[in-house]
Amino acid sequence: MKGKRGLVMGVANKNSIAWAIARQLSAQGADIAFTYQGDSLLRRVKPLAETLNSDPLLLDCDVTNDDQMDATFKALEDKWGKIDFLVHAIAFAGKDQLAGSFVDNTTRDGFLSAMNISAYSFVDAARRAKNIMNDGGSMVTLTYLGSERVIPNYNVMGVAKAALEASTRYLAADLGPRGIRVNAISAGPIKTLAAAGIGSGRHMFRFNKAASAMRDNTDPAGVAGAALYMLSDLGLSCTGETHHVDGGFHAIGMPVEAAMDEASGRES
Ligand code: NAP
Repeated sequence: MKGKRGLVMGVANKNSIAWAIARQLSAQGADIAFTYQGDSLLRRVKPLAETLNSDPLLLDCDVTNDDQMDATFKALEDKWGKIDFLVHAIAFAGKDQLAGSFVDNTTRDGFLSAMNISAYSFVDAARRAKNIMNDGGSMVTLTYLGSERVIPNYNVMGVAKAALEASTRYLAADLGPRGIRVNAISAGPIKTLAAAGIGSGRHMFRFNKAASAMRDNTDPAGVAGAALYMLSDLGLSCTGETHHVDGGFHAIGMPVEAAMDEASGRES
């Protein structure tokens, strides 16, 4: 990644998936700018970013605010002229939307806001990014299996992630002729602020560990490694892909009985 420059959106704290990715990219020589949302987040993101670069470019950007989105990419252009990569690790749904019955609890506002922040924002960022991206650049977003299968309480976020994955394919088709690749990483559950917003989190982590092929929870370092592959020339010719990094959980049709016993705390 030496000589490559790009934007990482979605670092909230040291547990953020975006932070694991940023550290890996930086270790491989990349220059990284970060977005954050508001002053309270700046207080958390700045000290982290400064561990990678003594004078990091930090940009205040709520993805629902067009002016801030414009200003973010203008600032990148002013500083670097061109960029080589974009990491989009942003999602949001109201807590009331992430528990219980999907059919009863999903409101119009809740649905639209989840789609806006968690899916449209990638399209919106990609459009701005491509205008200042070198040909041969690369973009990555983060998704979850709840887009493909029903995960309890994930509800409207599953719908938004399905839209995000479809958007990834359409973006890949539009930007492919310029050699710009667009991919999604479908990560297994990782303990972050965003994950804490989903109901029955403890069950989700226990079940994933017991029922995944590797009998373990997802390591953020594995997600960061996949991002490095996709954002660097290692990933040449890979685009429009949703790549699972979840210990093989997505590949399991029926967990073995012992795994179910372990997940439920029963003696087998
Ligand atoms: P995280 O640390 O909480 O990161 C989520 C980020 O989204 C935060 O920086 C948050 O900023 C930002 N965000 C939310 N609304 C925003 C807005 N309107 N404008 C700008 N930024 C906004 O959690 P994470 O788990 O690393 O999430 C990163 C991505 O990975 C998300 O797309 C998530 O769905 C995906 N993912 C997570 C898991 C998991 O188990 N953790 C699994 C698969 C996929 P604020 O804190 O300021 O709101």
